[in-house]
Amino acid sequence: MDMPKTLQQAIIHYSDPDNCIAFLVSRRWPDGVVKCPTCGSDAVKYVPTRRVWQCKTRHAKCQFSIKVGTIFEDSAIGLDKWLTAMWLVANSKNGVSSHEVSRSLGITQKSAWHMVHRIRLAMREDDGIHTIGSHWGNPIEIDETFSAVRQRTSTSPSASRPSARPSSWECSIARVARFERRSSRTRSGRPSRNP
Ligand SMILES: [Zn+2]
Repeated sequence: MDMPKTLQQAIIHYSDPDNCIAFLVSRRWPDGVVKCPTCGSDAVKYVPTRRVWQCKTRHAKCQFSIKVGTIFEDSAIGLDKWLTAMWLVANSKNGVSSHEVSRSLGITQKSAWHMVHRIRLAMREDDGIHTIGSHWGNPIEIDETFSAVRQRTSTSPSASRPSARPSSWECSIARVARFERRSSRTRSGRPSRNP
């Protein structure tokens, strides 16, 4: 799938919920095998009419949306706006302000601030690797994409600063998905919400 190249393309592309889901699935489960965020089983069935998966194992929250276990989970804001905001953050060379996100997405500046904050935190995985890893108490998962980002940023003196950003949208989203997977393991007590 081609990534949107302009903000206008991003807005149009992510206005389709199926595009949002397809995109996040491809980044969260690169092998295409969707796994239940609660039990980890891959015996899940997609229910297209509701855009959720049903885990075949019997347990609480056996029905889950793509939002479950991600930074989007407890947000009332739709994936269309989240993914467009992420596109903006990842594609703004000089950083994007919450005012700009607010105007572009037609949401309040307060909501935009929270979104940008979360997105930046997720994108800072390489410098927060120890903090995040020990905080969540889970091993860090590194794949080729992530390693490539780390190698690039680790040679830069600014790599450990919060402002250090990945150089591409592809890398950014891969990191976010990985960050989400770990954080989801601490969220078992939260109610699941659909996109
Ligand atoms: Zn399950």
